Amino acid sequence: MSDAPCALRLREVARRRGTGADSFTLEVASLTIQQGESVALTGPSGSGKSTLLDLLGLVLRPDRCAEFNLQGADGVRVDVAALWCGGRSDALARLRARHIGYVLQTGGLLPFLPAIDNIRLSRSLLGLGDDPLVDTLVERLRLGHLLEKKPRALSIGERQRVAIARALAHGPALLLADEPTAALDPIHAQEVMALMLELCAALGATAVVVTHDWDLARSVGLREIRAIPLARGLGSATRFED
Ligand code: ADP
Ligand code: MG
Repeated sequence: MSDAPCALRLREVARRRGTGADSFTLEVASLTIQQGESVALTGPSGSGKSTLLDLLGLVLRPDRCAEFNLQGADGVRVDVAALWCGGRSDALARLRARHIGYVLQTGGLLPFLPAIDNIRLSRSLLGLGDDPLVDTLVERLRLGHLLEKKPRALSIGERQRVAIARALAHGPALLLADEPTAALDPIHAQEVMALMLELCAALGATAVVVTHDWDLARSVGLREIRAIPLARGLGSATRFED
């Protein structure tokens, strides 16, 4: 096993969803993502991309886990496998809130909060004060004129830009994005994806992006990690490995 610093390192991690013929099993043989690297998880619908993202986001418990390390924004390496084994959901929740940012396909913004409060939410929940990072994100994502608007008054592209600002406002080590540009037209998809990755690079954050659109992923320089279908007797299964 290499001791090189990496943002994420998984080995022999598995999770099953459902039972019997309807079940789906995700296996991660090995996955190493360097700090500051940007990767794309690709594969057809139902191949387990969101399941893997939820495992990386510490919201889904693995059934089996030989190794799962995550490096926080402070450079400290955390043994996630040991936390799951020990039932340390409190520590996992803290880790998630402090070190991870999540962008969903349709934004996932709180509808009753104006854009600026959505953006500040992750910082508020952590008890963090104002920071120039928020102003930088607002400026770079061109949100200055939209801050008092509620999500329903924003276009889909604007909502996604707010969602990206929200996911990055607390300076996470890891940004997870689940098809963040799937609802956008190709030109806006390219622009929003490029901007999101540029901001991650500026923050030194690692990005794991689920996308159907491999041409887009390639055009913004993402390393592809593709779902490999596995032949199984009962149910379906997919393996990810790098
Ligand atoms: P993708 O994001 O690649 O489309 P998902 O990770 O969402 O794939 O789903 C992978 C498989 O797991 C699918 O067959 C899906 O039906 C199944 N699945 C997802 N969530 C659940 C769940 N909560 N219970 C049972 N099966 C699920
Ligand atoms: Mg999905």
